[in-house]
Amino acid sequence: MIIVMEPKATQEQVEAVKDRLVQAGFQTHLSVGESRTIIGVIGDKKEMSKVELEVLSGVEKCVSITEDYKLVNREFKPEDTIIDVGGAKIGGNHLAVMAGPCAVESIEQLREAAQYVKASGAQFLRGGAFKPRTSPYAFQGLEVKGLEMLAKVGQETGLKIVTEIMDASAIDAVCEYADVLQIGARNMQNFYLLKEVGKTNKPVLLKRGLAATVSEWLNAAEYIMSEGNFNVIFCERGIRTYETVTRNTLDLSAVVAIKAASHLPIIVDPSHGTGVRNMVLPMGRGAIAVGADGLMVEMHPNPAKALCDGKQSLTPTDFENFMAEMRRTAVFMGKTL
Ligand code: PEP
Ligand code: MN
Repeated sequence: MIIVMEPKATQEQVEAVKDRLVQAGFQTHLSVGESRTIIGVIGDKKEMSKVELEVLSGVEKCVSITEDYKLVNREFKPEDTIIDVGGAKIGGNHLAVMAGPCAVESIEQLREAAQYVKASGAQFLRGGAFKPRTSPYAFQGLEVKGLEMLAKVGQETGLKIVTEIMDASAIDAVCEYADVLQIGARNMQNFYLLKEVGKTNKPVLLKRGLAATVSEWLNAAEYIMSEGNFNVIFCERGIRTYETVTRNTLDLSAVVAIKAASHLPIIVDPSHGTGVRNMVLPMGRGAIAVGADGLMVEMHPNPAKALCDGKQSLTPTDFENFMAEMRRTAVFMGKTL
């Protein structure tokens, strides 16, 4: 349930409502908007109906949220959430771009990629140190050594680091080196891992599961928020369909659906979403046009030599063209990049 306070409600009135709920044994979550404060309460509906809240001063109305996801819900927080990663913002009028190789392969490879990312004006460097590969014989990533390289190059360039965490046992290591924790498609419903990243203070990039519905995805974000971490960013990366021309089917309608259902930002990954280098630019353009808050894109100094996902990785020249085109599209949408 959410308790919508009157626009003029005072801090004392908000506190009084919170105290009343805490006394009754409920947990509360506050959403302080520009025009009003909303208090979210999670717990047994029947028990909640016994607490008389509408009589308290400053309360405008109590609304029950019918969806399973509550904190993620736009009803709980009508304004768009803007996530600030050490000065780099995700959400609002500025588009965020997270670019870099699929996997960290060496310090030289990462440094070279980062120089192009930095020169393009993007704010985030991506790169996997723990790689979820279909085959156990494929390159699995440099693990902690890769994390160290990411942090080093992040320091050298000022780029914020986004990297995947595959298992809760690596949480301390990944939190030490990364600015944003990525939950990959294969782990979107690893509920234990979601709860663990929910206990950290790092923003979480939550990729859509290979065959997850929008509702399942929203609930996955709720797992993270229910543990107290409100900094969640969705990432649409394509879903599994019968189509074989592309690696996945990039579902741009999900951007619109997520924006309607939730206040959280959403970015799009046209690299994994298509698996085809030539499709990355047009689908990136489409993503911005439907209202995405940013893009995740794979680029490699020499894709032909990449240890992972070379076919979908942009070359440095492709990447430069990509960014120029995204910038033009951003203007069309009244955003900057
Ligand atoms: C990735 O971004 O490196 C990745 C493995 O993506 P996904 O989880 O979307 O397949
Ligand atoms: Mn990849």
